[in-house]
Amino acid sequence: MNLERLKILEENNVISTKVYNAMENIIFKLLLPKRLNLSDTDMFFTHLAMAMERNLKGNGIEEELDNFLKDEIIKNNNFESAKKLYGLMEDYFPCKLDDSEEEYIYMHLITLIENSNILVPGLTLAHEHTTIDLSGIKNDEDCNLNSKEETIKEFKKLYNAGIRNILDMTNIGIGRNIEYVEDVRKNTGLNIVYGTGFYKEPFLPNYVTTKSVDELSEIIIDELVNGIEKTNIRAGFIGEIGSSKDTMTDLELKVFEASIKAAKETEAVISTHTTLGTYALEQLELFKKHNMDLDKIIIGHMDISGNLDIIMKLISEGVNIGFDTIGKNNYFPDSKRVMFLKEIEKAGFINKVVLSMDITRKSNMEYRGGIGYNYIIDKFIPMMKDEGISDESIDKLLNSNIQRIFKWRI
Ligand SMILES: [Zn+2]
Repeated sequence: MNLERLKILEENNVISTKVYNAMENIIFKLLLPKRLNLSDTDMFFTHLAMAMERNLKGNGIEEELDNFLKDEIIKNNNFESAKKLYGLMEDYFPCKLDDSEEEYIYMHLITLIENSNILVPGLTLAHEHTTIDLSGIKNDEDCNLNSKEETIKEFKKLYNAGIRNILDMTNIGIGRNIEYVEDVRKNTGLNIVYGTGFYKEPFLPNYVTTKSVDELSEIIIDELVNGIEKTNIRAGFIGEIGSSKDTMTDLELKVFEASIKAAKETEAVISTHTTLGTYALEQLELFKKHNMDLDKIIIGHMDISGNLDIIMKLISEGVNIGFDTIGKNNYFPDSKRVMFLKEIEKAGFINKVVLSMDITRKSNMEYRGGIGYNYIIDKFIPMMKDEGISDESIDKLLNSNIQRIFKWRI
């Protein structure tokens, strides 16, 4: 995306400075911060600028779209978001646009929204770490997950099994390593999506103590909108941000508030960590208090809570939950995970759950005798099938639910 084309139109008096400035504001104050993909928008921007110009001069408006196209626009599942986005754009317009112009702009906005998806089609592991280093504080070298060649081997197998997206929960201060992950991404073809924000105590960077909520929020927004650590690789969501066992410390609350503020500004998804599945209802209350779109929130590690009542309560309130510690049988056996999923399916709530394993240690990997990233495909899916969970539900758990949660919407 660049403004050169609009600048040329302005210099040649095809559009006025007033219109050029309006376009600049729309792009930099609205579309970029909301993380729309502006890589292929020359036609749209030219069209919009010309529409403004025509309406300012009060002459020669566009012909109306035919009824068939109008109908297609209204039926499109991005229509509601396009309409809301148009409403926000209007604040910057130099004058109101004619109704017939408006319909053309909707058409462009629908395409723009469709092109702004973060996930590619295919199965998704919703809570993993390509690399993470908690070894310092945990005083255990096993918690430095840095076996790149082995990870590439296992990720290639994932790709062959139909996995296409990995939501990488390693965020600021816990060993996120863009160069490393980019290497894995390029070698495997998987779409590895980066998280941003801050994990939980005692793994928070020191500056979380001194910076304000607004300042922390700016850091998160910058990673979502502009890129991580001076690269142009943007974070794709906020997470994992966490609370401690049975409580949320003051610093953790600060991180949640900064994340909520950033999510509101950018329309980003938030994925959380609960310690052993505790304090989830309190996380939910916090999101509700801030009027968040609960379908853009995933409360993590709820399988490990072992508490089906709380899980049902969370889902019925509208939030999504992660069964994302699959294979950690020492915490909670997979046979029970499957039983819970059956109950959730029966209750009609299977569209609110996403799956993953949360591999964080070298000893979790195959070469060290661990379950490995492919356990979910090789072992857990067959377990679900054996217990009668339908193929349709399994597709929701690994595919369409997370696609829905991540779909760009306002
Ligand atoms: Zn976690």
